[in-house]
Amino acid sequence: MGTPLDYGQKPYNHYGAYLRDKYDGKRVFKIIADGGFTCPNRDGSKGYGGCTYCNVDSFTPELSRKLPTIREQIEQGMERAIKSYAAEKFIIYFQPNTNTYAPTHYLKSLYDEALSINTENIVGLSVGTRPDCIDFEKIALLESYSDRFDVDLEMGMESIYNDTLAQINRGCTHEELVQALELAKNSKLDLCVHTIFGFPWETKEMMLAYADEINRFPQIKFVKLHHLHIVEGSIMGVKYKREPFKLFELEEYTQFLAEFIPRLRPDIVIQRTFGLADYDLLIAPNWGLKKSEIQLYIDKGLESRVAIQGSQYQPSLLV
Ligand code: SF4
Repeated sequence: MGTPLDYGQKPYNHYGAYLRDKYDGKRVFKIIADGGFTCPNRDGSKGYGGCTYCNVDSFTPELSRKLPTIREQIEQGMERAIKSYAAEKFIIYFQPNTNTYAPTHYLKSLYDEALSINTENIVGLSVGTRPDCIDFEKIALLESYSDRFDVDLEMGMESIYNDTLAQINRGCTHEELVQALELAKNSKLDLCVHTIFGFPWETKEMMLAYADEINRFPQIKFVKLHHLHIVEGSIMGVKYKREPFKLFELEEYTQFLAEFIPRLRPDIVIQRTFGLADYDLLIAPNWGLKKSEIQLYIDKGLESRVAIQGSQYQPSLLV
C-alpha cells in the first residue's frame, strides 16, 4: 500500500494542489515576463551592489539585455508550456528584478500588454518586488486587474532580522516589509513572502522564528521557502570562493523544514520549499540532483517525519 505522498498528498499545503483545486483541475503554468526593470538596491537610489546573494548578470541595463518584447516573451513562454507540459491556463509572472520599480503609468502599460496576450487563458498576474517599492498607487493598479485575474504580489522578506538584512546589503528593513504588508492588508491582492534560510550566522531557533513572524500576518497567503545558495556573479559568491562557509546539506535542510513547516499557519500555501539556480550558475550547495528529485527527497523526508503543516502552530504566540 502506498503512502499519501504516493497519491500526491503532501503533508503541507502545496501550490500545485492549490492551483488544481482553484482552476478545476486545469494545468496552470507560470509564464515568466522580464519587463527590463532594474533594482533600487543597485542603481543607487537605495544602495549599490545589490543584495550580496543576488546575481549581477540579471541587472544588466535594459538596452544591453536585448530582451525580446513582452509579447514575444509571453507568446514563446506559452507555446513552450503548451508543447512541453500541455499547459491550459497561465499566470503571467513578472519575476526578474524589482517589478514595481517604475512610474505607475509605465507599469500599467506593461501589465496591460502582458495580460492582453491569449487573455482568455490567463488566470493570474504575479508580480515580484521589494517591500520598499510598494505604495497605495501601485497596489491600486494591481487591484484594478483583480476583477478579471487573480493577482499576487510577492515580496522579499528574506530574513526577519535587521542585522542579517544589513549584512546582506538588502537596503531594506524588516519594518519596511511590515509596512508594505499593512498597506496591502485590505486589498484584493494575494500576498506572498519569500524567505531565505541558512545565513551562516543565524541559528536554527532564529530561523524557526520566521514562522511565528509570518503567522502574525493573516494577509499572507503564500510563502516561498528557499535555502541559501551561492551563485556566480554575486558578492557572496566571491566571498564564498575565498572563504567557504557552512551551507545546508539536503538532509539537514529537510530536517529543518520538518521543524519549520509544522509551526507554519495551516492555511498558508507553500509555493516553494527550496530554490535552485541553474547548475551553470550555482556555486554551492550542489546537491547533485534534479529539481524533481530534490522535491521528492524533501517531501518524503517530511512525510516520514510526520511533519504536518500547522501541527505545532500556536495562535497564542501571535502578538
Ligand atoms: S535580490 Fe532583489 S532586491 Fe536584492 S539586488 Fe537582487 S533584485 Fe534587488
